[in-house]
Amino acid sequence: KQAELCDFGLIGLAVMGENLALNIESRGYSVAVYNRTTSVMENFMAGRAAGKKFIGCTSPKALVASLAKPRKIMMMVKAGAPVDAVIDEVTPLLDKGDILIDGGNSYYVDTERRTTELTEKGIHYIGAGVSGGEEGALKGPSIMPGGDKSAWPAVKPIFQAIAAKVGPNNDIPCCEWVGPRGAGHYVKMVHNGIEYGDMQLICEAYFLMTEALGLTNDELYDVFADWNTGELDSYLIEITRDIFSVKEGGDYLVDKVLDRAGAKGTGKWMSQLALDLGVPSTLVTEAVYARSLSALKEERVRASKLLKGPHGDHLNGKKYEGDKQAFITQIRDALYASKIVSYAQGFVQLRAAAAEHDWPLNYGDCAMLWRGGCIIRAVFLDRIKEAFDKDPKLDNLLLAPYFASAVDKAQDGWRHVVATSATLGIPVPAFATALAYYDGYRRARLPANLLQAQRDYFGAHTYERVDKPAGEMFHTEWLDLR
Ligand code: NAP
Repeated sequence: KQAELCDFGLIGLAVMGENLALNIESRGYSVAVYNRTTSVMENFMAGRAAGKKFIGCTSPKALVASLAKPRKIMMMVKAGAPVDAVIDEVTPLLDKGDILIDGGNSYYVDTERRTTELTEKGIHYIGAGVSGGEEGALKGPSIMPGGDKSAWPAVKPIFQAIAAKVGPNNDIPCCEWVGPRGAGHYVKMVHNGIEYGDMQLICEAYFLMTEALGLTNDELYDVFADWNTGELDSYLIEITRDIFSVKEGGDYLVDKVLDRAGAKGTGKWMSQLALDLGVPSTLVTEAVYARSLSALKEERVRASKLLKGPHGDHLNGKKYEGDKQAFITQIRDALYASKIVSYAQGFVQLRAAAAEHDWPLNYGDCAMLWRGGCIIRAVFLDRIKEAFDKDPKLDNLLLAPYFASAVDKAQDGWRHVVATSATLGIPVPAFATALAYYDGYRRARLPANLLQAQRDYFGAHTYERVDKPAGEMFHTEWLDLR
């Protein structure tokens, strides 16, 4: 009775699973669903799933029995140990050739391991990053699948049907095969790291406009509405605009939100892995640190009464005295240039990870995966796609003519904003680190000659010379030459 069996199975009916299941069903597929806590499944079946092509299952065994072969089962459960628990429970029930998909925010190293382990058992494993939150899951997420490519033909029509669509005809799905094993989850992690950077940059722009210029929420709404019509056109700028219009009982809600940020860890992973790879992903790291600093709320309140700012007082610095409108444009320039640096760093990290793990990543495709559906969706990803299409081996986005010129045009404003922020005592760690990266990257010569000299002086770590072939190492007893 194969015909009566469901096309797709979904485990985990929390926010993401429930909405993904509804999205898949809405594209004409029948879906069997299971959740560890049965009442969650029952509520779903009696509520949003009522009258639709769903089968509610009370056990993994019932779920597996409800599916047509080869079975396609997607897990949308909490990342970490729960994924292994579900794999352990489900795998013995599966047949060779069945497909198991992890759609959560799993750490890519776990996905590398799980793909290898399940391949040995004849089960096809896919680790797919899914972005877009609740609404994306329901209406069209960005999906970044990696793992066992032999499973891709069976899953591709379903994933590409539910994914967000972009392009002039709205027919390019934000879902394409990323690469082997953990590649999909790595790309999703870099997406999240870039999201951290984008959000921090927007927050710094906001802080400057309120602290230095004294803009009201109504004025901020107008600024972000304007920015959303140009190069910065993106989901995060759009929702930021909207946030400034939301009131609760006559007061703006954003002003009532406590300034203490949380994090779930994907930004930290990207930052830690950048350190392991030896690549300078300074934007995401600074964004993670900014959240950590924000978390010290009580300590900051105490420090604010003790530590003086640039004008000898405990205030937040004085207001900007120059042309307000011009400064807003310069802040926009700083945001845009820093954003370019942030994406450049993200792609450099992807390249380094791809080289380390032997993933044949297509960077233009990665840009298009993020073009719609996900949190960092932005018009400017089209330019990134064009840059990698023109030169798939591009070392750094900053070297692409379009971006080199964009940063050049923005740099006067960017420098003025960073310098002014320092003078006024307003923290802009992401703007500043982006500028420092740009200025470091464009230097043929950095002070690392002195650093190598110091290392050789105290630790005999040896150094290379500019007047000798690369790789030839020298050591000097420095004081002997004096
Ligand atoms: P979640 O809160 O991360 O996870 C809750 C789900 O996991 C529930 O169905 C829960 O079942 C199940 N679960 C937890 N431990 C389990 C275990 N040991 N065995 C079996 N099931 C277990 O849910 P979510 O927010 O929908 O996210 C799902 C995944 O997508 C996560 O990896 C998340 O990081 C990722 N993600 C989330 C978002 C978002 O916006 N929320 C966006 C993109 C990606 P019970 O009902 O029985 O507790």
